[in-house]
Amino acid sequence: MAKPVIAIVGRPNVGKSTIFNRIVGERVSIVEDVAGVTRDRIYSSADWLTHEFNIIDTGGIDIGDEPFLDQIRQQAEIAMDEADVIIFMTNGREGVTLADEQVAKILYRTNKPVVLAVNKVDNPDMKEMIYDFYSLGFGDPFPISGSHGLGLGDLLDEAAKHFPEVEDVDYDEGVIKFSLIGRPNVGKSSLVNAFLGDERVIVSNIAGTTRDAVDSHYVFDDQEYVIIDTAGMRKKGKVYESTEKYSVLRALRAIERSDVVLVVLNGEEGIQEQDKKIAGYAHQAGKGVIIVYNKWDAVDKDEKTMNEKTKEIREQFQFLDYAPIAFTSATTGKRVHNLLPVVNRVSENHAMRIQSSILNEVISDAVARNPAPTDKGRRLRIYYATQVAIKPPTFVVFVNEPELMHFTYERFLENRIRDTFEFEGTPIKIITRARD
Ligand code: GDP
Ligand code: GDP
Repeated sequence: MAKPVIAIVGRPNVGKSTIFNRIVGERVSIVEDVAGVTRDRIYSSADWLTHEFNIIDTGGIDIGDEPFLDQIRQQAEIAMDEADVIIFMTNGREGVTLADEQVAKILYRTNKPVVLAVNKVDNPDMKEMIYDFYSLGFGDPFPISGSHGLGLGDLLDEAAKHFPEVEDVDYDEGVIKFSLIGRPNVGKSSLVNAFLGDERVIVSNIAGTTRDAVDSHYVFDDQEYVIIDTAGMRKKGKVYESTEKYSVLRALRAIERSDVVLVVLNGEEGIQEQDKKIAGYAHQAGKGVIIVYNKWDAVDKDEKTMNEKTKEIREQFQFLDYAPIAFTSATTGKRVHNLLPVVNRVSENHAMRIQSSILNEVISDAVARNPAPTDKGRRLRIYYATQVAIKPPTFVVFVNEPELMHFTYERFLENRIRDTFEFEGTPIKIITRARD
């Protein structure tokens, strides 16, 4: 189920990122140990008491060289587009400023609930600072202190009151949910149109609607599919859509609801740093991944080019060594029909269950061939392995001492598992536990 989304809006320096970090806590939404992936703190899941939600710090979305006012206008628009509830943040120490009034004016246009927060109210004596803020027209202001962590409970309780009742469409088990992610202009919407434009594809009318997103539901060869978040891709023309952080935000939201993610690259421009970053999120989220090298028609090529590009992609995306690569041209439609069978296969692998008896045969075979490492005279002993989850396939390996499991050995076991079973396109997780 998709979680409700809170966005924080406000002029610079009122304390948005401080509050964001407080609410998110030490949770790391994106782990940094993947090559090419840096931590991004503008979007994260969070929880407060029984509420689970996602939160966006719109202040972290840097909108190029736009003048100050355009920047906050666009940040407010992102909040209005992406969030279920908006926290409008101000600074109690400075009182209501012209910039606050301008933000307010933009937010009047939204039909999303807005909760007004007055930050930097660092002690209870300062509470009268909030009265000024009634003039903004968003009802009771909530005094908070990001530095001291005060008032956040009341603020989030108020925000949670406005969480929508129906949060997501639940699709049947057998439906494959996939999304296309990538930098702006790589051809995501063109690919979606190419899928849906195929005359053998039956597009269903019952498109699931989640907030502003419209999923496309369709059937091909008796298999049902949902393309996640095509509305966001089709609705175009806003300035902020070309910003890096915004494309990350969209990608993260689409990834969250997908089983399989198509990471789309632009063959015309080649691979860029940002592509790796975006791909890293899909990997990190444990989704099935397919690398799609689009605009293949625009690439100068001979019979060797595909091999060369494959090699280059493998070098650049080492953490996705399990992902199949497809070369497509959305505009000519060439090779696009090859994609769906790959989506089917990856989706199947992502949900595969391996019998414990067979799994343990593979593991003991692997150990016999390449004995587990020793450390200071102690040898890792593997007793038993079992699959505990699918999507992605997750294995627990019971051992004598988990500290003795070196990541290179874990990698070796993963490779043995991959050699034996068909896990193309899906990450697999191995967890080492001490046997009681
Ligand atoms: P943003 O630009 O809105 O994201 O603001 P920041 O979170 O970067 O905060 C701007 C400045 O205000 C920083 O120096 C913070 O340490 C400070 N600040 C944030 N919250 C509080 C608070 O509750 N009380 C006080 N006194 N300072 C705060
Ligand atoms: P998105 O921002 O990732 O959704 O990209 P679009 O689908 O809007 O495509 C951006 C531009 O690239 C448009 O002008 C498309 O016509 C063009 N484009 C998309 N796919 C291809 C392709 O396979 N080949 C070529 N030559 N152009 C493409």
